[in-house]
Amino acid sequence: MRLDVERIIRLLPRGKVFPDEPLSRHTSFGVGGRCSALVLPSNVDEIVSLVQYLTEEEAPFIVIGKGTNLLVSDRGYEGVVIKLADNLSLVEQNGELLFAQSGASLSKLVEFAIEHSLSGLEKLAGIPGTVGGAVWMNAGAYGAFFGDRVASVEVVSFSGERLTIDNPRFSYRAGFEGKEKLIITGVYLELTPGDKTVLSSVASDILEKRRKNQPLDMRSAGCVFKNPPGDSAGRIIDWLGLKGKRVGGAQVSPVHANFIVNTGNATASDIYDLINLVRNKVFEKTQIALSLEVVTVGRF
Ligand SMILES: Cc1cc2nc3c(=O)[nH]c(=O)nc-3n(C[C@H](O)[C@H](O)[C@H](O)COP(=O)(O)OP(=O)(O)OC[C@H]3O[C@@H](n4cnc5c(N)ncnc54)[C@H](O)[C@@H]3O)c2cc1C
Repeated sequence: MRLDVERIIRLLPRGKVFPDEPLSRHTSFGVGGRCSALVLPSNVDEIVSLVQYLTEEEAPFIVIGKGTNLLVSDRGYEGVVIKLADNLSLVEQNGELLFAQSGASLSKLVEFAIEHSLSGLEKLAGIPGTVGGAVWMNAGAYGAFFGDRVASVEVVSFSGERLTIDNPRFSYRAGFEGKEKLIITGVYLELTPGDKTVLSSVASDILEKRRKNQPLDMRSAGCVFKNPPGDSAGRIIDWLGLKGKRVGGAQVSPVHANFIVNTGNATASDIYDLINLVRNKVFEKTQIALSLEVVTVGRF
């Protein structure tokens, strides 16, 4: 693909463009090859201009947030990566309604809600990533799901139209119905009044549980597999004795069996091969086909 980087720079006077950028710098696993260009738009108008141009040129592109749920191939991604994190990070309150732009940090949004005595997000404390990523994945923890609180989602379609989707229907770790070919730019959340001290203590307890049960000192992308109906992927992997299993620099975390960690020098292929090894062993012993929660980018 021949990409006119100068044209992109002209289309985004306030944004930033990094040609040939290593994606390992933008993923929590710390692995992944280069993309043709990484683009950081500074506002929604710039997203519109950019996608109109990329769609017209038939140039491949993807959107990422903080890359905390991504496994990018060592060969990288031949196309444009639009990163919405830190840029587009406005968070506003209007009574029990919160508006957050998709690049806002989910943790900051959770803190903001607690600070304003609003309940509904406190159990999501400690999930890394952006608001856009949380919408796309329907991020959840301890029985709470981001999608449960979403009243509407603001998006830009791949043809550059700005749309609002009211009352979107979310499902487990799959975002909302009809999300394909849409870039999430913001979200309205309906929360309920709560006691700040209580909400704060729920969030602290959850952060403490995460510190105990998750390998937070190692690079990972959180849980690798979705839980199969009525069971936990981590429980099955642990039961099969796979904790600590390694391929190259990738390891099934000895702390949490559904986490694969980069012990320092893992490649994306090491992680991918270990994922397949675990998946095959689980299928062999239980006939359960685990599906990936982590999103893969590029060719493996
Ligand atoms: C230590 C650790 C713990 C974790 N714990 C949890 C947990 O408890 N629960 C949980 O659900 N997840 C958890 N995760 C996974 C991850 O943090 C979440 O899935 C998070 O919501 C991803 O957000 P992100 O901004 O990093 O998205 P990315 O990883 O950048 O992207 C994820 C997907 O969303 C898409 N996407 C992102 N932003 C947009 C946008 N604006 N428009 C369109 N598409 C977009 C991407 O294309 C990709 O398909 C954990 C990860 C880590 C590293």
